[in-house]
Amino acid sequence: MTPTGLSMDVRTPVKRNVLISGASISGPALAYWLHRSGCAVTVVEKAGALRGGGYPIDIRGTAIEVVRRMGILPQLRDAHIDSRRCTFLNADGSTLTSLRPSAVAGGVEGQDLEVRRGDLATALYGKVRDDVEFLFGDAIDTLDQSGQGVDVTFRSGRRRTFDLVVGADGMHSATRESLFGPEEQFHRYLGYCFALFTMPNTFGLSRELVLWNTPGKAAALYAVGDSDELHAFLNFHQPEPPLDALRNPDAQRDLVATVFADAGWEVPGMVSAMRDADDLFFDTAGQIRMPHWSSGRVALVGDAAYAPSFLTGQGSSLALVGAYMLANALATNRDHTAAFAAYERDVRGFVAMNQALVDNGGARLFPTTARALEQRNTMLRDLVTMPAAPARPAHSALTLPECAPLPRPGGPR
Ligand SMILES: Cc1cc2nc3c(=O)[nH]c(=O)nc-3n(C[C@H](O)[C@H](O)[C@H](O)COP(=O)(O)OP(=O)(O)OC[C@H]3O[C@@H](n4cnc5c(N)ncnc54)[C@H](O)[C@@H]3O)c2cc1C
Repeated sequence: MTPTGLSMDVRTPVKRNVLISGASISGPALAYWLHRSGCAVTVVEKAGALRGGGYPIDIRGTAIEVVRRMGILPQLRDAHIDSRRCTFLNADGSTLTSLRPSAVAGGVEGQDLEVRRGDLATALYGKVRDDVEFLFGDAIDTLDQSGQGVDVTFRSGRRRTFDLVVGADGMHSATRESLFGPEEQFHRYLGYCFALFTMPNTFGLSRELVLWNTPGKAAALYAVGDSDELHAFLNFHQPEPPLDALRNPDAQRDLVATVFADAGWEVPGMVSAMRDADDLFFDTAGQIRMPHWSSGRVALVGDAAYAPSFLTGQGSSLALVGAYMLANALATNRDHTAAFAAYERDVRGFVAMNQALVDNGGARLFPTTARALEQRNTMLRDLVTMPAAPARPAHSALTLPECAPLPRPGGPR
């Protein structure tokens, strides 16, 4: 399939020189589209190498068109997880009901994709690794916009000047903090904490998700393909975010173990596997909501600007669409201020619709009271006999622009 979309203007004499912080989903996607539109791109990633692993993530609606235009749709179709069932358990471990995954997640069967986060990151990186400079194991230390561009000092001691800088460094973005101040101002806590880790598949699970609930607590085991490893997930309701635990992995383990101390089913074994896990990922479920996504020559993309939380399943899709739209705005507008304004204008409504997916009962898989759990269970039993739910309008609420007109000679600085 021939990729379409933003194209490079060979007449443009002055290349925009852009630094992107973060090489997960939004960073490499943005790097790809900026390179195609004629920018010189550098990506700095604090990890020493591309980060593999991670829980399965969804690519849906408009984001499918982004990966199609990048030419990686066939590769991602091959990587599609294609689980066959999702089984819900009662507190005692007995089966409540078993459903097709699309009936639960709201995706469009045969169209939307679910892939390992690492597979998506690898596919994106593979599209840009030869055209873009990657600086692994480094990070931005300071940003100074007082001159003609952005003077950047890196933790390694390097100093460089860029025309533009984009923070694609995730929910807890350091770029956002250095521009706009502490995360607390923008973080909307959704009342849950979660722990993700891998553990041995000693249950014989294959291509399926098993989810156990009691009010305010959930434990899930996800078998991706026939792997001998499971993705384990422990999620719990917590009225206030546990700020101390967020900075301390030992405190995270203790908190999870305490919350699940009297839980049934296979939870005790999961808690003990969590204690030994070397890939524990603990965080709060929350969203980033900001009044502006840029300041001067620095902008934000993906989770850094508008994380929707895992409860929406839309984090990677927003990251992919946001990256495309930001690159398109920069290719269309010579002036970066106008470009950043256009990016916000065109993407904000899409973000708002997707973040709103959790406003009213969006966290329905994780009820916090016995009554809400009973209502959810009734709804799940009904789903067995109902036709597949239609696609959520929010997933496709943005239509991507076609090839952007290109900056005129004279330089896009
Ligand atoms: C290891 C990992 C596991 C994840 N697992 C899940 C999951 O199980 N479920 C889920 O819903 N979402 C998960 N996510 C988040 C999900 O991938 C995002 O919603 C979505 O991919 C948005 O992508 P992003 O590129 O904007 O941000 P992210 O995917 O968060 O990527 C941010 C990148 O920036 C890098 N970075 C951070 N700080 C700096 C810095 N100061 N300098 C340079 N680089 C920096 C990070 O190492 C990372 O590579 C995970 C993210 C990561 C990194």
